[in-house]
Amino acid sequence: MRFFVSVLFASALLAQDAARLAEDPAIKVAFAAIQKNEPHFIDEQIRICEIPAPPFHEEARAKELERLFQQAGLHEVRIDKAGNVIGVRPGASPHPNLLLQAHLDTVFPEGTNVKVTREGTLLKGPGIGDDCRGLATMLGVIRALEEAHVKTPGTITFAADVGEEGLGDLRGTKELFNNTLKGQIDKFISIDGLGLGITNIGVGSYRYRVEFKGPGGHSFGAFGMVNPIQAMGRAIAKIDNFDVPKNPKTTFNVGRVGGGTSVNAIPFECWMEVDMRSADKNSLEAVNAKFKAAIAEAVEEENKRWPGHGTVTASPELVGLRPAGSTPADSAIVIAAVAATKVVGGSGRLGEGSTDANVPMNLGIPAITIGGGGRGSGAHALDEQFDTKDSYLGTERALLLAVALAR
Ligand SMILES: [Zn+2]
Repeated sequence: MRFFVSVLFASALLAQDAARLAEDPAIKVAFAAIQKNEPHFIDEQIRICEIPAPPFHEEARAKELERLFQQAGLHEVRIDKAGNVIGVRPGASPHPNLLLQAHLDTVFPEGTNVKVTREGTLLKGPGIGDDCRGLATMLGVIRALEEAHVKTPGTITFAADVGEEGLGDLRGTKELFNNTLKGQIDKFISIDGLGLGITNIGVGSYRYRVEFKGPGGHSFGAFGMVNPIQAMGRAIAKIDNFDVPKNPKTTFNVGRVGGGTSVNAIPFECWMEVDMRSADKNSLEAVNAKFKAAIAEAVEEENKRWPGHGTVTASPELVGLRPAGSTPADSAIVIAAVAATKVVGGSGRLGEGSTDANVPMNLGIPAITIGGGGRGSGAHALDEQFDTKDSYLGTERALLLAVALAR
């Protein structure tokens, strides 16, 4: 009971803290700078968005962010082995060290027309929101902190990271936490996409491509031979029967299949792609274990069904791994995020997603993902839209939160 009361008391203090911080003279100057400079940040958002950053080829956009980090006065500006751009704004002490980042990559392949069009407050172009807005918001925070001479007791490290989307598989953030900044980061915020949302639950996933192989032969002449497609069918039937928890939501999907030679041939190979997700580490591990067992059992059954006529083998290859994790709603970082969001008029509602924050969440480092402000639609589509109306509120919220956490 005593513990409960003290937690409530601490939460109230933290929430008050963010609100009180907004009244700080230096923060007021920073907010004014953000409002005044927003048109310039929007221009910058467009300019960055017109530098292509297809999956696995973020180099050109990274170079530009490196230049902008240097120009904004960050220290130790560098590009790491994975291609992440890093810069530091030292505080009075190296800790707590907050990592604030946005991702460089888009889902669009090389050669996509990345020209942005503008009509009034409406911008259109692939990646304009996800995540050029995040990059622009991060740059807006850095510049406003400088312009208002905001001093923080702790340090803020900024990063523009690679490989957030799809098969990029969070490789930039994994590199930051496993190598580049290993052991140095105490708190984490990623600015990803639009609006004023807060993501504190990181849905993890396993993705596999499984190949089934056998000798192959004539459908009539070699009848009685093991069949890789029929083995795969057994595996799919088992997967379909998986019992998974509704809460935490845990899912599985056989998304693609292929293979075979001809209608009158026993195939020598086939393949399938499978995706499994959960926000809960243990549930994700459990469904992953069931999946592996299903493949092994299916192969064994097929080989037993047709003994002495060759064997089927299966090799599941892991093609994607996003670790699961979450940051509790009553943790200091989430309470501060909700309070900072309310300061700029947002609701402070919490949500779940699969973002760069999954990596630190899985390591037990307090982490969330926030939107960069504004409104829009069509993320990951060629006609993605971003409405700049009141988008400066996203930058103000990010700045307030960063300062609240860098102490
Ligand atoms: Zn994104």
